[in-house]
Amino acid sequence: MTQPYHRIFNFSAGPCTLPVTVLEQARDDLMNYRGTGMSVMEMSHRSKPFETILAQAQSGLKELLSIPDDYDILFLQGGASQQFTMIPLDFLNPGKSADYVVTGTWGSKAVESAKLLAPVDVVYNGKPEGYRTAPDWSMLNFNKDAAYAHFTSNETIQGVEFHKDPTCSIPVICDMSSDILSRKVDVSKYSLIYAGAQKNMGPAGVTAVILKKDMLSKLNQNLAPTLDYKVQADNNSMYNTPPCWSIYLCSLVYQNLLVHEGVEGANKRNNAKANLLYNVIDSCGGFYKGHADQKSRSIMNVTFTLPSEELTIEFVKQCTADGMDGLKGHRSVGGCRASLYNAFPLEGCQKLADAMVDFAKKKG
Ligand SMILES: *Cc1c(COP(=O)(O)O)cnc(C)c1O
Repeated sequence: MTQPYHRIFNFSAGPCTLPVTVLEQARDDLMNYRGTGMSVMEMSHRSKPFETILAQAQSGLKELLSIPDDYDILFLQGGASQQFTMIPLDFLNPGKSADYVVTGTWGSKAVESAKLLAPVDVVYNGKPEGYRTAPDWSMLNFNKDAAYAHFTSNETIQGVEFHKDPTCSIPVICDMSSDILSRKVDVSKYSLIYAGAQKNMGPAGVTAVILKKDMLSKLNQNLAPTLDYKVQADNNSMYNTPPCWSIYLCSLVYQNLLVHEGVEGANKRNNAKANLLYNVIDSCGGFYKGHADQKSRSIMNVTFTLPSEELTIEFVKQCTADGMDGLKGHRSVGGCRASLYNAFPLEGCQKLADAMVDFAKKKG
């Protein structure tokens, strides 16, 4: 089918590419949502249609991740970054500390926010080696009295990912912003999972929080209501107006993934996509260097450098001209970053892989 619009291969780290069929559905619903005569942007969040949208978003996420019944599913505002504050604010009780595993920039930002509120122990810090590794869980020593252990399952900037669920005797909290729904996880191993929507779930403006209900008994008192997990849970994420449009888009993304074999299907496709690029990185005689250690390589964000800054600029420019956007690496890592979230197509990876092989042949 010819489409009335031109789409490029968008390798952006987030906000990023969304499934075309979801965008088409949103377009079709824009002026008149399923016979209501108005857009989701225009309807009361207390209306029946929106109640249904919220319930569908919750049940979609629940089904995709097999979330057990003793978890609340919240849709909050303030981005993943606000969770960096809300978590210690709510769970770091007076006299308690928390353990942080830092494998990249986002984990380090989480520490900076938490430190403003209470003592923090960094039990693993990948910074001295340039953030290249996700350590084995068995290597880490947690304080048995710590309120929680926090880690980042996928470091979006460095492209460093944990490929195993945590094993830890204290409550585990995970920033899953950039790899949620990319693979199967055992939710029961986590006390809280949070993820900004704008990587794998939808547009910016909403953050999903999957919270084990027993955590609600450990909260600090006298919290500001919008920053209190119990207030948010008691009000089903509607203490105040939720980000209705973003939640609606997420619900469409969840439905779309459910008809495409769920997270197992996504994982198969994501592995195939990432392998195309890692194979090129490993087979061009050292022209490209992967940033992350092999065993910690991210399936979502493939990070690599070229022999020089000039070559990097030339390569990125050439890709942009050829319909492949968003490949410039984060300034802290340099080189290139190809973000391959769920909605990113295999053809785009093949095209980039071919361009990389060509470029290395010409310049290597
Ligand atoms: C993008 C990202 C964030 C920040 O998300 P905001 O919604 O911009 O606050 C935090 N953690 C990770 C792992 C991310 O990828």
